[in-house]
Amino acid sequence: MLNVEQKFPRYPLTFGPTPIEKLERLSRHLGGEVEIYAKREDCNSGLAFGGNKVRKLEYMVPDAIAQNCDTLVTIGGVQSNHTRQVAAVAAKIGMKCRLVQESWVPFNDAVYDRVGNILMSRVMGAQIELVDEGFDIGVRESWERALEDVKEKGGKPYAIPAGASDHPLGGLGFAGFADEVRQQEAELGLTFDYIIVCSVTGSTQACMIVGFAADGRAQKVIGIDASGTPEQTRAQVLKIAQNTADKLELGQEFTLDDVVLNTDYAYPAYGVPSDETNDAIRLSARLEGMMTDPVYEGKSMQGMIDLVRKGHFAKGSNILYAHLGGVPAINGYSYLYRNG
Ligand SMILES: *Cc1c(COP(=O)(O)O)cnc(C)c1O
Repeated sequence: MLNVEQKFPRYPLTFGPTPIEKLERLSRHLGGEVEIYAKREDCNSGLAFGGNKVRKLEYMVPDAIAQNCDTLVTIGGVQSNHTRQVAAVAAKIGMKCRLVQESWVPFNDAVYDRVGNILMSRVMGAQIELVDEGFDIGVRESWERALEDVKEKGGKPYAIPAGASDHPLGGLGFAGFADEVRQQEAELGLTFDYIIVCSVTGSTQACMIVGFAADGRAQKVIGIDASGTPEQTRAQVLKIAQNTADKLELGQEFTLDDVVLNTDYAYPAYGVPSDETNDAIRLSARLEGMMTDPVYEGKSMQGMIDLVRKGHFAKGSNILYAHLGGVPAINGYSYLYRNG
């Protein structure tokens, strides 16, 4: 056990351990040689549809409160799930929220900046600035300007980077994920041979790696890149895994070999689904009633389905698909799915 909660304060914003659900019909449809399960991080909280950023924010909120901050400031794309989750958390803890939303996705739907995530962030009272800059998971000038602006107006900003990843506490939220899964494995009477996770800003995969390294499964965590800039994502996953292991005093060294990041499914670009992504979204929706989105989870679903079909996993394997949320973004793709 990493006992993250005993070492760092956590502000509870989630319902508790997320359920694991068997995807029986999808498993059968793909030939029945492997058993597929989903861990439903998309159902982890009552905060505006939840998702993986809420787990990360549970460890940042105590820091923001301890520093007497009054405004959470973060950045993402126009249909960012992360900024929507920060807006919800700010509302819940009684802070203000300032969001910089950049044009990360080259996709033009008439309602792209009106619906889904950004609609909810506006309703929850966040102050939103739209900025015409392209995709980059690094530190952005627009975000630094927003932080300065909050200060100039007499506020005390708390800086949360893209995806709540490249932050000293960014890795803690998912460090306990593997312990939670091990507990559920004991209850289910099985062990997962592979964990599939979508990766972009990196801390989700990074800390799954840290947690699963405890029983030799670091390299069984298969990241599916959705960024289209995998070298940056891979480097950030390794950096955050190492920082988190050091913070938790695990005395463990990670190398690039521990970061399994499949780059085959991010095409054609971040935020733009391929025909194969859309097929995967429809397949899991029609077989399981489980919705995924065109930016993230549709791509990891596509990757998992393709790897199963290619026989990548040995017969009899148990596969855990981490569903990290993100469905509200699909509203921004209304024309694409006008016929289903
Ligand atoms: C942010 C996000 C991811 C990627 O997680 P990172 O920690 O940024 O790598 C995957 N899926 C969804 C739905 C997300 O919102």
